[in-house]
Amino acid sequence: MNETASLRARAEIDLAALRANVRALRGRAAGAQLMAVVKSDGYGHGAVPCARAAREAGATWLGTATPQEALALRAAGLEGRIMCWLWTPGGPWREAIEAGIDVSVSALWALREIVAAGADRPARVQLKADTGLGRGGCQPADWPELVSEARAAEQAGHIRITGLWSHFACADEPGHPSIAPQLAAFRDMVAYAEKEGVEPEVRHLANSPATLTIPEAHFDLVRTGIAMYGVSPAPELGAPAELGLRPVMTLTASVALVKDVPAGHGVSYGHHYATPAGTTLGLIPVGYADGVPRHASGRGPVLVGGKVRTVAGRVAMDQFVVDLGGDRPEPGAEAVLFGPGDRGEPTVEDWAVAAGTIGYEIVTRIGTRVPRVYVNETAGPAGPADPSGGAAR
Ligand SMILES: *Cc1c(COP(=O)(O)O)cnc(C)c1O
Repeated sequence: MNETASLRARAEIDLAALRANVRALRGRAAGAQLMAVVKSDGYGHGAVPCARAAREAGATWLGTATPQEALALRAAGLEGRIMCWLWTPGGPWREAIEAGIDVSVSALWALREIVAAGADRPARVQLKADTGLGRGGCQPADWPELVSEARAAEQAGHIRITGLWSHFACADEPGHPSIAPQLAAFRDMVAYAEKEGVEPEVRHLANSPATLTIPEAHFDLVRTGIAMYGVSPAPELGAPAELGLRPVMTLTASVALVKDVPAGHGVSYGHHYATPAGTTLGLIPVGYADGVPRHASGRGPVLVGGKVRTVAGRVAMDQFVVDLGGDRPEPGAEAVLFGPGDRGEPTVEDWAVAAGTIGYEIVTRIGTRVPRVYVNETAGPAGPADPSGGAAR
């Protein structure tokens, strides 16, 4: 562990937990391949180390939003299938195609830019259907035209149609009435493309919540992001442990100051907290610039000296304060904002509730000023710190 990194704050990333989660998710979707979604720097956990660990645990695909994210994985030496889906006019099509990255197409403009890019090989193109999300993807009414032009480009040798895919709107709400119609629309749009001669390598629809709760949505490949990082996609699906998942990130800071204050002392900007009695205050040196949500002012939980305390008053840019109720931990004592929960520390899900958001937003917003410290980096013979115990290998 990097000692200088540990002084103020750090996000410890347990790659053994990530590998165990990938194996658990593969078990939930037996028969399908697994795409490890590492967009947005691996949901804040670090794209390259997480991609490598996911590959070691059997992920055959990597997925990103932007082409720059996908190209960065290739540049870091990651081989095999990589897909990215968030394109805007101008590319970089040629670079992505020549790096062997699967590119997603929702509309004719993208197909035409791909053909015009003049890459040194046929582009690997995955056609995306809008089966009801109403975001990316091709509407059913426009699908025949897109499939027809894609087939023509394939027959001319410009592209190879490697995948047919779509995305759910409400997979995180089990039984939601949009799920069955989306599945039906996907089957129809796949059947139409195959009737027109498309022979995809993969058909895929499921994100983490669908991987966990909708087996008929697994098809050839599941695209898991949040669950791989050991965070529950939604409280109604259960806590990570109930889903067989282990949180990967632990966010800690070192207590920077402990001091006595009298009763009635205002705390932090705006004085939204006043000490009810003479007490001790602890200064925690992370703030909203580090991703601690300002919306969790007065609510966010943190474990200090064996007790869960609550953010007193406002979260500031670089720091916040907790009322320690007379306790006097030494400066430098560990404050745990969230982790797996083994030591009684809060979890990502607790912070999501405190900030009125979802766990996805908590982990992806942890800032670049917080160093990521990797533990259990090697998948080799399992050390004592490997919670998987090597049993699944
Ligand atoms: C982010 C994303 C995923 C992964 O979603 P999770 O809910 O984090 O598993 C899958 N597919 C697409 C298209 C995405 O944008």
